[in-house]
Formats: sequence, structure tokens, C-alpha cells
Amino acid sequence: MTLDTIGEEIKKANSIAILAHESPDGDAIGSVLAMGLALENMGKQPDRIITEYPRKFQFLPGADKVKKESQVEKYDLAIALDCSDLRRLDGKEYFENAHKTIVIDHHSTNTMYGDINFVNPVATACCEILIGIFTYFELDIHQDLGTCILTGIITDTGGFKYQGVTAETFEFTAELLRKGVNVSEIYEKVLETRTRSNFELLKRILNRMEILENGKVAFTYITSQDEEEVHAEPGDHEGLVEVGRNVEGVEVSIFIRQIDNEAKYKISMRSTSDINVSDICYLFGGGGHPRAAGCVIQGTVEQVKEKIIQEVRNRLN
Ligand code: AMP
Ligand code: MN
Ligand code: MN
Repeated sequence: MTLDTIGEEIKKANSIAILAHESPDGDAIGSVLAMGLALENMGKQPDRIITEYPRKFQFLPGADKVKKESQVEKYDLAIALDCSDLRRLDGKEYFENAHKTIVIDHHSTNTMYGDINFVNPVATACCEILIGIFTYFELDIHQDLGTCILTGIITDTGGFKYQGVTAETFEFTAELLRKGVNVSEIYEKVLETRTRSNFELLKRILNRMEILENGKVAFTYITSQDEEEVHAEPGDHEGLVEVGRNVEGVEVSIFIRQIDNEAKYKISMRSTSDINVSDICYLFGGGGHPRAAGCVIQGTVEQVKEKIIQEVRNRLN
């Protein structure tokens, strides 16, 4: 079974790198930190590598052990978490050079780019898959480990509110509460607190938001200049796409963010209907989940907007 093979590879490895997708969200961060603690419990000394660690996740156990880069050229083992394809992997060079590679993920669009791939698209978060793995390895899911795992679940379910949340999600959360995990602190820090820069970006995206296609599509954007003006740090744009989705009648929310002052935008899409935004993003070389997906498109705001809305229009009733 795959989990036995994963266990064997971990046992054999002397040097291990733990990686996740670029622009890491709570699930990516939670997964890396949880895996780091779990491997330490297994007697390993893994390197957790995240190039741009968002400030809001600084409170998590093990955050101080995260490295921006590593001097190790060839790891015995590299583990990629919450990342659907190699292109999006932060620190992909460590993965490409590693002797053995493992991918653990919950994106249905995962390209299975590891030597060993453990992908479950039904899981609400990569962190949820880790619970299964750690339980299989008979590791104790203690308070710190639970805090990291729950951070991933809380972020990727929007605070237990998206489809995909099951009775098990709550049962597991209840179990962690008993172990002393501070659920309200995680909730408060991860979902309820805006950085000042994020708040300034929010004002801009609200001003620019257009409700199109008979009220079914919300569109808004930020440029690199906006981010410079509000002194945005990594992660400060997170959550802005949710604003449009919450408007009555909107089925698809589109938020685009300029990349490095270039004629190039990162697209974030959210759906509240049967429109599968992952399928749309896949057309542009991206992917994600049916109700939350992303991709990168070249062009100006107007050009990118037209390209993406065209595809949404084709799917609206
Ligand atoms: P985001 O809008 O960046 O929060 O991403 C929403 C979901 O789509 C997340 O699960 C991402 O991992 C996934 N995603 C975002 N951008 C891409 C991309 N370029 N390729 C594949 N998956 C993506
Ligand atoms: Mn993620
Ligand atoms: Mn995830």
C-alpha cells in the first residue's frame, strides 16, 4: 500500500525537504508545519522550505523553523504538499534534484508528478489527508500538530462552511479541542484578522468591482502598483476573491492580480453554482477545485477579463 511505501521512504531518508505551492495559503503552511512536526516525532530532522512566509501564520508551532532556502543540493527525499503541479511548487529545484519524491495533495487536477503520489480529491484540505497518514503511522496528534492541521482545514473550508465538510471534519475538530487546540485563536488569527494592507486592497477592489452577466459574475482586480502603494506583503491579497462571491445572485467571482508589473495576471475564481471553475482554469493551464481555482493569463486587465469572462459566459444558463 502506498502509505507503507511512504513510511519506508521516510525511514530510509537522512535528509528530507518539505515543500508546498507558491503563494502559500493556510493549508499549504499548515501541511508543511504539520509534516515537519510529524517527521521530527519519527526521529527525522526535515527542512521546511517556504520562500515567502506570510506574517499572519507566524503564530503557528514550528513557524520559526521554516527556511527561505537551503544549502542542501540533493535531498534523499522531497515531499510536496497541497500542490497540484510541479510548476506551482515553491522550491521546485529541491524536488527535481531529490533522490526520491512524494506528492501528497487534494487537488483533482494533480498531475501526479512525484515518484509516489497520494492524492485524494475528496479531502477538504491537504491537512485532512495528513490526519489519515499520521494515524496510519500511529503518531500521536498532539496539540501543536493539531493546531497546524486545523489551520489547513479551517482555511480550505472557509471556516467549516464549504461543501465537502463532513461529520468527520467536526469529529476530528472535537477531538483536537479535547487535546487543547485553541480553535477560536486559529479562527481569529487566520480568518478574522485583516492586515492593514489587505484592508487597503479591499477598499480598492470594492470600488472597482463590476457585477456583470445579469448579476451572475463579479469581477475585480489589483495591479502591482496597488500592492506597492499599500505596502502589501506576501499573502496580503488572500481572501479578496471571496468578496464578490458573497454578493446575492453572483455565481462566479473573478479576482485578478498583476504579477511583477508585467502584462500578466494571476486569476482567482470562486463559484457558488454548478459552474466548475477548475475546468475553466484548466483551459488556461491552471487548475484547482470545482468551486475554487486559479490560473495565469497574459494580457492587460481588459484582455484578461474578456478571455476569462468569455469562458464563464459559455457555461452560464
Ligand atoms: P487561489 O485562488 O489562489 O486561492 O486558488 C484557489 C485554488 O486553486 C487553490 O486550491 C489553488 O491551489 C488552486 N490554484 C490556484 N492557481 C492555480 C494554478 N495556476 N494551477 C493549479 N491550481 C491552482
Ligand atoms: Mn492551498
Ligand atoms: Mn489545499
